[in-house]
Amino acid sequence: MGKLISLVSGKGGTGKTTVAANLAVALGKLGKKVVAVDADLTMANLSLVMGMDDASVTIHDVLMGDASIDEAIYSLPQFENVYVIPAAVDWEHVIKADPRGLPETLAPLKEKFDFVLIDCPAGLQVDAMSAMLSSEEVILVTNPEISCIADTMKVGIVLKKAGLAILGFVLNRYGRSDNDIPPDAAAEAMEVPLLAVIPEDRAIREGTLEGIPVVVYKPNSEGAKAFMELAEQVMRIS
Ligand code: ADP
Ligand code: MG
Repeated sequence: MGKLISLVSGKGGTGKTTVAANLAVALGKLGKKVVAVDADLTMANLSLVMGMDDASVTIHDVLMGDASIDEAIYSLPQFENVYVIPAAVDWEHVIKADPRGLPETLAPLKEKFDFVLIDCPAGLQVDAMSAMLSSEEVILVTNPEISCIADTMKVGIVLKKAGLAILGFVLNRYGRSDNDIPPDAAAEAMEVPLLAVIPEDRAIREGTLEGIPVVVYKPNSEGAKAFMELAEQVMRIS
């Protein structure tokens, strides 16, 4: 049986999609069969970040009852062992798909993949809750700022109460400012294990623009090395 892992945060823009894409490709490189699911139903961009063209069948079609989950799985031959379930970006689909169907829709993926990585919306609204509650294990993604850490902690507390296992947190975009909260202080505040520190790295943003996650785009960059270490850590503890 595979692992259902969500990437979550309190605020938007912390790097959930970037972590989902890179962790997927990194785990694939390490020989694991992975599917990355775009569960950010209103602000979908995972498939773009992973270099995938427009898809004809999306998670929205599955939630609307117009397609099966298997029809929404696309292989990405440019990355080893990696598959994506994209989301629609047009408003028609966005208003018609009910996010509350996500847990039941995504659960069967566990039987086909070693890892199911669920890229979630930020916050605690119903669309975010539905995406997060589709997982069994959680990776919190935060930036080294006090308000970001506080908001991400809130999400972690709610998910723990809901019975999910919090694997730990990723401190992303470290080194962007002189006022960054250091990793040890962040870990003390978060009260969950620090899984990886991902530096602020322009190669990560360049990879995003190219549609090639940095672990493949620039495998020798500091950002890529940090994501590979995160993947190894996730394999050990999940
Ligand atoms: P979220 O999914 O949480 O909203 P994204 O993954 O879309 O956040 O990231 C927001 C932006 O920040 C993207 O342009 C991404 O390329 C950039 N970014 C994320 N992490 C890093 C990093 N460690 N270094 C540099 N840029 C980053
Ligand atoms: Mg995102």
